[in-house]
Amino acid sequence: MKDVIEVAVVGGGPTGLMLACELALAGIAVRVFERRDEPVQQSRALTLHPRSLEVLALRGWEGPFLERGRPLPTGHFGMLDTRLDFSVLDTAFKFTLFISQAVTETLLEERARVLGVDLRRGYEVRELRQDDEGVDLAGSASGQAFRCRARYVVGADGARSLVRQLAGIGFVGTDTSVTAMLGDVVLSEPPSRPAFSTINTRGGIMIVPLGSGIHRVILFDPERMQVPVKESVTLDELRRSVTRICGTDLGMRDPQWLSRFGNETRIAETYKAGRVLLAGDAAHIHFPAGGQGLNVGLQDAMNLGWKLAGVLRDRAPLSLLESYHRERYPVGHALTRNTEAQTALMACSPSVLALRDLLSGFLKDPALNRSLAERLGAMDVVYPDLEVPAPRFEGGLVTALTGKRLPDLELKPLDGAARRLYSFMHEGKWLLLRLREGHGPGVSLDPAWRGWTNVVQARPGDDREELRGLSGLLLRPDGHVGWAWA
Ligand SMILES: Cc1cc2nc3c(=O)[nH]c(=O)nc-3n(C[C@H](O)[C@H](O)[C@H](O)COP(=O)(O)OP(=O)(O)OC[C@H]3O[C@@H](n4cnc5c(N)ncnc54)[C@H](O)[C@@H]3O)c2cc1C
Repeated sequence: MKDVIEVAVVGGGPTGLMLACELALAGIAVRVFERRDEPVQQSRALTLHPRSLEVLALRGWEGPFLERGRPLPTGHFGMLDTRLDFSVLDTAFKFTLFISQAVTETLLEERARVLGVDLRRGYEVRELRQDDEGVDLAGSASGQAFRCRARYVVGADGARSLVRQLAGIGFVGTDTSVTAMLGDVVLSEPPSRPAFSTINTRGGIMIVPLGSGIHRVILFDPERMQVPVKESVTLDELRRSVTRICGTDLGMRDPQWLSRFGNETRIAETYKAGRVLLAGDAAHIHFPAGGQGLNVGLQDAMNLGWKLAGVLRDRAPLSLLESYHRERYPVGHALTRNTEAQTALMACSPSVLALRDLLSGFLKDPALNRSLAERLGAMDVVYPDLEVPAPRFEGGLVTALTGKRLPDLELKPLDGAARRLYSFMHEGKWLLLRLREGHGPGVSLDPAWRGWTNVVQARPGDDREELRGLSGLLLRPDGHVGWAWA
């Protein structure tokens, strides 16, 4: 007999795990198929950006990440000398969190298990076929065939996504034209600055301490940039390049992980084809510059989870789910563009070095620096039009805030002590926030939405310009403003 589930997520990396958590929180029966028997030990990503921390905080999950990570007040764009200052951003998380991908995945997996996600390790999906009512999956687990049918399938199965291929979704973009090297190695003579980077006509290098004497060394060596991505990196190769660029090999030894990566850049032509959806690296790949891929994957998951749950529970029309592509494709596209721009800045020619100096100078301007930090940290993402029937409002709609995120404001509820805004959003529901006393309901919600919306009457703790004159806000489960009214 065929096993039928609500959502099957293919891939238990950070994106798949985050999505599974969101769906389970909404009471959806979700099963994750992950082909690896064990969690991955090597950490490609090392950072969580401010918006990802906000996304975790919207569910009250940020604590263990903050405990295990290390806050860094700055980040970089294309390794430019002037660093991006996260400390000025309008968020409770005025930093980027230095935390390995392995730890991020472990913590997400722990959360998924607490929420009752059916995570199946050692299950490789190999076939997919969809019809109007659902999707059939088949694959292999420990040499045994398995099958299941799901109402929806999400491909969170990474860059080479089989789900994407079997759903017939094109992956549009450009092939690798340059490669770079990565080595997690012991350095007995590391640079004195903890986050060191330099770029000159001989090449570029970035060095970050990972703890226990191990450092991540990332290298852009013009003499090695045409080596194919599949060719293994050797310690000797890394050592020769480091010596050429820095004049010393920094006492390099004991490699833990050596890898080559390239700038293949692609985006799925659609994030939804029928009952198959894509998220994370399955939907977009790019040169890993500025530490964004995992972050954007977590944010894809946050955008998709509540929409899929809303449609499955008949609380919202299908147009809500269609809005996933409309809202997230532009974010993925912007990601591919900014990483292409950063790749261009890694070229070590005299003209690019001159351009780098010029841009570094511009970034000393606080407004420009902040704008780029907001972009890299995904604080500037706005969803202007949800395209679902709006509830009926008594006052006039105010559109200036529509689709923007709100930071974790302090609120003073009428009936209790001060609380943070996000603490009202841990259940993953909409939040109707009434900002004025003595006003009527302000908004009349469709009965289907009532069980999906928490209601709070509160004043903001601080006088915030954008909230002046508002009677209320209806916040989406992902913390973006759905509607605001006067
Ligand atoms: C050198 C490097 C440095 C990086 N640094 C950063 C950084 O600092 N910050 C950042 O945000 N990002 C960074 N990234 C990018 C980041 O690692 C990825 O964006 C992130 O891992 C994507 O997560 P994902 O869950 O979408 O995909 P993946 O992590 O690729 O997970 C996909 C999962 O699907 C499983 N799977 C695949 N096919 C199947 C199948 N058929 N059946 C079952 N399971 C399957 C895989 O085993 C895997 O576990 C970096 C990448 C590289 C290469």
